[in-house]
Parts: sequence; C-alpha cells; structure tokens
Amino acid sequence: MTIKDKTIYMDNSATTPVRKEVVEEMLPYMTENFGNPSSIYEIGKISKHAIDKARAKVANALGAKENEIYFTSGGTESDNWALKGTAFANRNKGKHIITSSIEHHAVLHTCAWLERQGFEVTYLPVDKYGMVSPEEVKKAIRDDTILISIMLANNEIGTIQPVEEIGKIAKENRIYFHTDAVQAIGHVPINVKKMNIDLLSLSGHKFEGPKGCGALYIRKGTKIDTFLHGGAQERKQRAGTENVPSIVGLGKAIELATAEIEESNKTLLELRGHLIKGLLKIPKTHLNGHPTQRLANNVNVTFEYIEGESLLLLLNANGIFASTGSACNSSSLEPSHVLTACGVPHEIVHGSLRLSLGRMNSKKDVDRVLEVLPEIVQKLRNMSPLTTKEYRTI
Ligand SMILES: *Cc1c(COP(=O)(O)O)cnc(C)c1O
Repeated sequence: MTIKDKTIYMDNSATTPVRKEVVEEMLPYMTENFGNPSSIYEIGKISKHAIDKARAKVANALGAKENEIYFTSGGTESDNWALKGTAFANRNKGKHIITSSIEHHAVLHTCAWLERQGFEVTYLPVDKYGMVSPEEVKKAIRDDTILISIMLANNEIGTIQPVEEIGKIAKENRIYFHTDAVQAIGHVPINVKKMNIDLLSLSGHKFEGPKGCGALYIRKGTKIDTFLHGGAQERKQRAGTENVPSIVGLGKAIELATAEIEESNKTLLELRGHLIKGLLKIPKTHLNGHPTQRLANNVNVTFEYIEGESLLLLLNANGIFASTGSACNSSSLEPSHVLTACGVPHEIVHGSLRLSLGRMNSKKDVDRVLEVLPEIVQKLRNMSPLTTKEYRTI
C-alpha cells in the first residue's frame, strides 16, 4: 500500500518519514561504500570516517563530547542499556532506582525486570498535566539510590519535564541521571552539561532519520556495564558491525533537526494552537497534557462517551492517520498508563486521541481534520450507549 496524496499523516510521535536529504546521504553507504568499518583498507576507512562524522554531529546536537556517544539499534536499546548497565555496575553501592509512572514502556518494563532481579524502583506520580515534581524526586532519594530516570518529553501527551532541575538534584546527591529524550530531539534544545544529564537516549526514526538506529550518550566517567559482548566496536561497549548507512542517516537527521528547532517549533506551534482551539469546540472534549509546557507537535484530547479505537478506524476511512495514546498501546485494550497516571477518569480514558504533527503537515491538513472530526465524534456518540440524551442528535 502506498500513501496516497490526499492522506493526512498525523502520527509523527509514532514515527516519521525519512527526510530526502537524509536518504541521499545514506545511499552510498549501501552501495559503493559498503566496507566494514573495522577493516583497515580504503573502503573500510571510508565507513569508519562516516561513523566518526555522524558521532560528531550527535555530540554537537547534545553539547557532548564525541567519545560520549554510542550508537545503538534505537530508543528501546538505549533505554535498556542505560538502566540495566548502570544498575548492575553500581549494585554494590545500592539497589534503588527512581523513575516516573509515565515513562515509555522501554523504561517501565526494564524497571519491572530489574525489580525481578532484586532492585527496588520508586515510580513517582505526576500531576494532572503529566508533570513530575522535582520536590517529589528529592523526597524519594534514599541512601542506596543509584539512578534517576525521568523522560525529557512524554510521547503520549507531550509534557516537557523539568529535567534541568531534576539533573541538579541528582548531581547534588551524586546519583546518576538518565533521560529518555527520544521525543525531544528537534523540539527541545538540549545541553547535557547544562542540564546535568549523565545518560540520554535518542532514536533516529522520531526525527526523520532511519528506523532501527539510535544512540546513547554516556557522560565520561559513568560506571556502566557493557551491553552487547562481542567485537571491539563502539570502544568495546556495544559489539556488532555498525549499521553504517543508518548511523550516517541519523547524523544528518539530527544535524538538520537541531539547526531547524526554532523555525520548526514556530510553524508547529501555530498549527497546534489552531488544532487545539478547533477540537475544544467539540462539546465534552478535554485537552490532555500541559497547556504550555508541551511539545510543539503534540495534541492529545479526550472525547467523552466514545471509543478511541472506533475513532481511529473512522479517521482512517477518511485518510487521516492518528493514534490513541501511543502506538505501542494501539493493539491492546489496556487504557493508557500515562492518561491514567494523569487522573483521566476510567469512564472516559478510552475516548482519547493523539494527533502528532510533523514537517509535512499544513494548515490545510488541520482544517481538514477539524472538518471531519466533529462529524465522526457525533456519529459515534449517537451510537454509544453511554451518551446522555443531551449529546445525541438522533
Ligand atoms: C519511540 C520511543 C521509544 C522507543 O524507541 P525505538 O527506537 O522505537 O525503540 C522510547 N522512548 C520514547 C519516549 C519513545 O517515544
């Protein structure tokens, strides 16, 4: 199936298309420059050089040093490595980890596994906007706390966390601080030194780079175990022949995304404002996440009396691609753990919709969504046994 011209893609938090300039940079590394970066002859060195260049671009985007960047297979691997690697390397010092209840499953399920290995995890609550309180972080610290992991921006509701403050608290208490910044790249300016971040996860396909390629920033001096054992790649910390084309693509994508943050946020904020304003005109509709401290591309609303799944199907029938909570949840009927943590009542949490904007979206797209959605919502409300008489048109 190809995406037709008239379809509207508003699920950029699930993944993004690879940008044309990125594809162009990647292509030679699949054909003529196919050498193994570990080989010492010419085409091997070309690959090695390309990886070094990409590493410098990632380091530059984060305010880090080149030897603090490690390439991985994506956000999930980076999160797993950050948590398991620091937990086991520091288990003689302590066994306590602090995280939040709204993290991505790559963090939450890793924490659950670590609990089964004997670690103890505190899952901090959030306020109704999905915000973690630095005070709560401070209060949760114990003598045996070894790691704090709080995401930079949430993938479902877009709430941007007070990471700089949390980083300061972690530093004062000599505890490692990891942040999942997968959704933040290209939207929130990052400087790992200024924000006191020791470990940071990112993933190429969330900012118009290739899928299956990410990176983990590890501050120099951090005690962390090797994640994959094997060859000497990535300074012996992450074995396996490097995914050269994707690493090159990730480097180009992060360079472009970082250079364009301001301009891109300006455009997205306008679209977001227009979209939220239009959606809230639909009766019994609530905005999820923080009104201002949120990603410029994120809109998440709950419509009372309807099912998000039916909403997605009807949107799809109209050529509009969106998501309930997160892509990982879309095949399960479990309510979103993020919305639940924000206190969205059980009776209405299923009527949630995430529209995440991208560079391809225009005002015309937003207008089209605002034309179609009210009709769909009304149609579903008319069918729903939960709808009160007041909100039926038939
Ligand atoms: C997408 C996402 C991940 C997982 O990244 P993959 O590259 O798909 O494994 C982790 N954390 C957050 C916040 C995400 O949005």
